[in-house]
Amino acid sequence: MSDIQSIVIVGGGTAGWLAACYLQRTLGAARQSPLPITLIEPPQAASIGADLATVPTLRGTMQALGIPERALFTAADATLSNGLRFNGWRRGGAATDDSFDHPFDIPPPFHGFATTAHWLNLLQRGLTREPMAQACAVQTTLFDGHLSPKLVDSPEYQAPVSYGYQLDAVKLAMLLQQKALERGVRHVQGEVVRVQRGAGGIEAVELADGRRCEASFFIDCTGSRSLLLQQALGVPWVSFADWLPCDRTVSLPLAHGQAHGALRSHTTATAQAAGWTWDMDLQSRRGTGYVYASRFCSDDEAVATLRELGAGHKPLAEPRLQRLRAGHAARAWEANCLALGAAGGFIEPLESTGLYLVEWMLQLFVDHVAPAGNSDACRGRVNRVFGDFYEEMRDFIVAHYALSQRRDTPFWRACTEEATLPPRLAELLALWDSKVPTPTDLDRRLSLFGVANWSYLLAGLQRLPSQGIGLSGHISPEISLKAMAHVQGIRRIAAAQSPTMRDYLLSLDGVVTSHAAH
Ligand SMILES: Cc1cc2nc3c(=O)[nH]c(=O)nc-3n(C[C@H](O)[C@H](O)[C@H](O)COP(=O)(O)OP(=O)(O)OC[C@H]3O[C@@H](n4cnc5c(N)ncnc54)[C@H](O)[C@@H]3O)c2cc1C
Repeated sequence: MSDIQSIVIVGGGTAGWLAACYLQRTLGAARQSPLPITLIEPPQAASIGADLATVPTLRGTMQALGIPERALFTAADATLSNGLRFNGWRRGGAATDDSFDHPFDIPPPFHGFATTAHWLNLLQRGLTREPMAQACAVQTTLFDGHLSPKLVDSPEYQAPVSYGYQLDAVKLAMLLQQKALERGVRHVQGEVVRVQRGAGGIEAVELADGRRCEASFFIDCTGSRSLLLQQALGVPWVSFADWLPCDRTVSLPLAHGQAHGALRSHTTATAQAAGWTWDMDLQSRRGTGYVYASRFCSDDEAVATLRELGAGHKPLAEPRLQRLRAGHAARAWEANCLALGAAGGFIEPLESTGLYLVEWMLQLFVDHVAPAGNSDACRGRVNRVFGDFYEEMRDFIVAHYALSQRRDTPFWRACTEEATLPPRLAELLALWDSKVPTPTDLDRRLSLFGVANWSYLLAGLQRLPSQGIGLSGHISPEISLKAMAHVQGIRRIAAAQSPTMRDYLLSLDGVVTSHAAH
């Protein structure tokens, strides 16, 4: 670590402030004397906030940073999420008959076989018609009742089932900022206008007012501008646009329908004519947005679609349009600069992976840099793993489109019959036409998404192996029926014990009580 004597982070979104907290807590704590960390960002304009649904890993990260879970509820408008519900992805039908769930919990094994194998065994014998996520997983029972994954007395960051959050990204960044500043991170307000290069990479950044900030290591968190890594160091971009055509988004915060109405404990992703819309409940508002392909939908059409979907709910701001570019930097770590968040890569938020990618990259970086410093060997390894990881993520997201039976609009035809799949995804889908997914199929295994996640997706989009599971001869239907009954028993207990999302929030006395009640 001897060659990292000081760090400058440019950019103060969620990636920048998470990096500040994380690096202070890890690299900073490992030293005798404090590691100077400075974060530079332009003075922030007031904002209504941005919707952020997370996967469960954020719990571990926040706990490791020493941030009480309660702070997420009091400061970041957080609700809890059991997972995602996908409407209209199979045939473009109504949510009542074209819907599947991707919960966070993994089906438990029963009598030596995965519960999914028992379910398929019964399905193929005509003994069940229950969707996989309802037959095999406990957590989906919490979706419909708007139930909390946490019980009222669950310790912080713990619950009987896995869970993520739905929260306000701007408020989360402010919470992280407060913690970082308390712990000695220096905050410089100003816009970086020039990056000075030297033999070892970046020497300093210059601000609009003439100030100059030097460091031995730089973290680029400037969002899609990627001011340091791509603009100054010239690292090229690996585009995923051939497979992921959505390149725009519009978001619109809405008032809740009723002051004390139910708060949903899942995020919804509904397939639309040229992309998909998200819908999630935060404590104080409802977050909605449309991710769409500009080749097939104009901004005006997207705004009109989103307004129509939110009809009857008061908009809390004007629609906010943003460009998206799917892909990643060819190298996230170049010379003495690491890019995080949108500066390093972006995948549309269909499976809530944006913040996870920042958490994961910080962990990967610190694992390498803490013992070995800024070495060629570590950079090479981190960059290779980073690229592989993005490809795995891409394949999982592309599969949502590629497996759809929708052919009703030019967008869906482009994503299905006209699309060429990434080779590895094509290989996996061909394999899963003949067998159920098992862990050995996923040879890279870096991904957040394992066999259970793929199974929820394949079953949800009705792409089950045409030749059967190959195990039916070995599993008796009686055992499989017992497995299903076992899961249903746990579901009943979970539904009976879990408070509603709103009641859980109301049980946290103080600020949350009044906030959640509005
Ligand atoms: C529409 C949308 C929905 C999303 N939904 C989810 C979701 O549900 N779940 C999820 O996990 N992720 C989601 N993401 C991804 C996630 O919000 C972000 O990608 C991630 O949090 C990282 O943001 P960031 O900090 O890299 O970039 P940004 O938030 O763009 O921050 C960039 C920062 O850099 C600063 N900056 C820029 N230029 C300069 C300069 N010259 N000098 C100084 N500072 C500068 C800016 O002021 C800003 O503070 C979504 C993204 C989008 C676009």
